Amino acid sequence: MKIIMLGAPGAGKGTQAQMIADKYGIPHISTGDIFRANIKNGTELGMEAKKYMDQGLLVPDELTVKILLDRVAQEDCRGGYVLDGFPRTIPQAEVLDRSLEELDSRIDYAIDVEVPDENIVKRMSGRRACLACGATFHVEHVPPKQEGICDRCGKDLVLRDDDKPETVQNRLTVYHEQTQPLIDFYGRKGILKTVDGTKPMQEVFGSIAEILGNA
Ligand code: AMP
Repeated sequence: MKIIMLGAPGAGKGTQAQMIADKYGIPHISTGDIFRANIKNGTELGMEAKKYMDQGLLVPDELTVKILLDRVAQEDCRGGYVLDGFPRTIPQAEVLDRSLEELDSRIDYAIDVEVPDENIVKRMSGRRACLACGATFHVEHVPPKQEGICDRCGKDLVLRDDDKPETVQNRLTVYHEQTQPLIDFYGRKGILKTVDGTKPMQEVFGSIAEILGNA
């Protein structure tokens, strides 16, 4: 099963993607996490990506598409995957489609986690991330067991630079201009499913699990 998560930054699609990955035993692939891992390791890709990420802009398609296609070609992706944060532009979606077609495959579901802009800025300022393992929490909605400490790996949690309020507004503008058109793109293909992302996390996941069924 191949799934794409759509939704504004801060809509909770990362959390839902991880829950899907756990339930269905498929990898959770986040291009944001791949970039952050590269930044942490000081790679050339990481240094290039950081220039855009720190401003709330998208990393250019040439860089992003390559890392994603390399990742989904790996062995653990044979049984499917859930993509979180990719595609973010129509050209990215088209490249993904073409490369899947070559393998006689396709995306099964595009799940849009819908949350109005008003809720997003508030949510993102409460978000806390573990830069070591990529887990995300929220001070109100998904608090870690111990404040400031990652449940998964025990490292410190931080407010990511790109979750700071001044950057969030840019990210929302970029989302509406470049990513939202994907909702129509997948709607036209007949694989778009929409869930109400303002509901509590478990309820949102309940709606998603209903869509995906026992696949
Ligand atoms: P995320 O963790 O998905 O919110 O991504 C954090 C940042 O990484 C984004 O604001 C972009 O700068 C960059 N990024 C992640 N995925 C993509 C993508 N598919 N295309 C372009 N930039 C991306």
